[in-house]
Amino acid sequence: MSHLAAPVQISKRCLPRLERCGGSLLLLLTIFGCQGPVQKVQFDHAAMGTRFRIVAYHRNDGQVEEAIQHAFEAIDDIEDICSDWKSDSEIRRLCRSGPHSEPVQVSRHLLEVLSRAVEVSRISDGAFDPTVGPLVRLWRRCQRAGRLPSSQELERARETVGVDSISINKIAGTVQLLRSGLEIDLGGIAKGYAVEVARKVMEAEGISSLLIDGGGDISFGKPPPHERSWKLEVQPTGNLQDSGNGMRLRINFTSEGAVATSGDATRFIEIEGKRYSHILDPVTGIGVPGPHAVTVFARDGATADALATAISVLSPDEAAIFIGRFPGSAALLFNSVDGRPLILGDFPGYPR
Ligand code: AMP
Ligand code: MG
Repeated sequence: MSHLAAPVQISKRCLPRLERCGGSLLLLLTIFGCQGPVQKVQFDHAAMGTRFRIVAYHRNDGQVEEAIQHAFEAIDDIEDICSDWKSDSEIRRLCRSGPHSEPVQVSRHLLEVLSRAVEVSRISDGAFDPTVGPLVRLWRRCQRAGRLPSSQELERARETVGVDSISINKIAGTVQLLRSGLEIDLGGIAKGYAVEVARKVMEAEGISSLLIDGGGDISFGKPPPHERSWKLEVQPTGNLQDSGNGMRLRINFTSEGAVATSGDATRFIEIEGKRYSHILDPVTGIGVPGPHAVTVFARDGATADALATAISVLSPDEAAIFIGRFPGSAALLFNSVDGRPLILGDFPGYPR
């Protein structure tokens, strides 16, 4: 994915190797019930430039291992479709083949993730924009050179930015790119979409008590047996060194859903003493000024991921209106150095 570090090696295509976390025992927790023990199973898998981790509780560990394997296969498939690093990914091939005189048939996942990206783009008034690819590439080049882009460079890169150049027909399953040079970057949504798909795969195989973490994009089902919630630790301000508080939040999520955090905690550059994020404001074409961090709760992973990226660009007032358009979603904004978040919406489990 474009928003991630260089791709790490992934395990075999058809059969992701299940990697036990930290080499520890498969059986981490056993809760005895009347139909036999419920086991906590936890596996890692490298994909999309990060490590995915699945935690699941079930009585039948053979069944849960198989379901986890299928979930990791689904994540690999989504990487093959959405990756910006792989030149033969479906999205890169689609962009190369444009502009299209006729609509092009695409995979079910690409149709879904692109539709959601375009929808969030429209609702955010372009703060989230999957066509931001040329600006992202320019920003990365400048980042390496330690300088800001020139106005001519920005003008050129901005030429193809805008989702109106993408026409999607969900019923026919087609996409048509209406202008040449479009570079679609799904880095702000694809990992969230991947954890959501992986969760659905496991739930369809009868595993309902599970959590999938794609390096900060987290989707969770029912809490562990005999627990009322998932206790997650969110550390959005870990790198807001100015505040010096290294804040950690413990949040108890009782409802099923997804959480995503966006920000410049680990990915930022400093140019002439100013800090900029890897998330770009499509209007200015340059990184959002930092430090900044936002954690979003939403009903599904793709929405949480895209909203966290969008809100990173929006002002708090704009973000408050924007999040209201996504029922069930809420956000914690860590824009100030005192570390106390601004809460937008009804963030589940967050103490008021
Ligand atoms: P995230 O970490 O989910 O916030 O996604 C950040 C990644 O999304 C970046 O590395 C870019 O690949 C991409 N991106 C940057 N700015 C935007 C934007 N304004 N809208 C959509 N995607 C963006
Ligand atoms: Mg995102």
